[in-house]
Amino acid sequence: MNLFDVYPLFNIEITKGIGTRITDSQGIEYLDLYGGHAVISIGHSHPFYVQKLTQQLENLVFYSNSVVNKLQTELAKKLGKLSGYDDYSLFLVSSGAEANENALKLASFHTGRRKVVAFNKSFHGRTSAAVRVTDNPKIVAPINEGFEVEFPDLNDIESVRKILKKKDVCAVIIEGIQGVGGIRIPEIEFLQQLSEECAKTGTMLILDEVQSGYGRSGKFFAHQYADIRPDLITIAKGMGNGFPIGGVMISPKFEASHGLLGTTFGGSHLACVAAISVLDIIKAEQLVANADKIGQYLITELKKIPQIKEVRGLGLMIGLEFEIPIKDIRNRLLFEKKIFTGVTGTNIIRLLPPLCLSKQDANIFLSGLKEIIQTTSFN
Ligand code: PLP
Repeated sequence: MNLFDVYPLFNIEITKGIGTRITDSQGIEYLDLYGGHAVISIGHSHPFYVQKLTQQLENLVFYSNSVVNKLQTELAKKLGKLSGYDDYSLFLVSSGAEANENALKLASFHTGRRKVVAFNKSFHGRTSAAVRVTDNPKIVAPINEGFEVEFPDLNDIESVRKILKKKDVCAVIIEGIQGVGGIRIPEIEFLQQLSEECAKTGTMLILDEVQSGYGRSGKFFAHQYADIRPDLITIAKGMGNGFPIGGVMISPKFEASHGLLGTTFGGSHLACVAAISVLDIIKAEQLVANADKIGQYLITELKKIPQIKEVRGLGLMIGLEFEIPIKDIRNRLLFEKKIFTGVTGTNIIRLLPPLCLSKQDANIFLSGLKEIIQTTSFN
């Protein structure tokens, strides 16, 4: 059987990863500023994480959600404490899309409404509130599974007000920072007004922190820059440092009942151990503060490079927008400088490195990028 060919691939086989470095099957080492699409939070194969997962593997990988699983309780407690959401409850799933689907369902059950507001250029996984970001005409947006979705522009509070006024929207779903859509940050005032508007109209506010959460933005959640408290927060990616786990953090206003939500794999023993180890390491190594510090340094230095049209980001979620397509620059970073970066659209390089990135790592990237830019034609 062949693989169903949906991913454009670099012909590089990664066989090993340690910290911010990955190595391919030829023994070539790369600096990883992509982190498997924002997944690597604590760094590749952290020794504490490896030890905890190995121990758990020897005991039990998975049973089911029909028995008590104290690892789930431990995870919920630690996550509540570290994120500042002690009073919320946690529903565990296995991916970002699944987290968002469940958040949308909860909002719909709670309000009895079926309409959803997402934003232009948003991405929430391959969900009913997805895809407004692709240039690919074959991907039709959204994949509607029963929700009717409207897509106003980010930061356009008046359009949102008009839609919410009718009181028939169950949820507004918004990314802490738009990732796939080009590292676009919701304005603080917009988020605050949005939160107020949702409260006024009985609309649930879902903060999709799948990419921007878990310390990536320099705060545990990106929306905490605006000091708001959403009704539902979705998480995945950095939560398991590569082990598939996601979750919905649910405000106390929602009442749980048996059978309301469910999943086979969500919150497996091994997944919980991965997620608990990630939180322990984030706390012990102060990785949220590190993301803030190194992110600020990178953004400041990148803004000094005149050939970059715009640098956008918070913490270690950074977009570099150029006037020209970035394919060559990105390929040269990879093949000449041995640095992995991400991309969004045609003109934006996206940095989503492990949160343990050092200043020395940042400098390696800055000097490599400057050298490449010197020999790139911008006409
Ligand atoms: N939400 C956001 C903001 C994302 O960036 C992504 C994935 O890139 C998802 C949801 C979907 O996550 P998953 O691919 O784990 O389903």
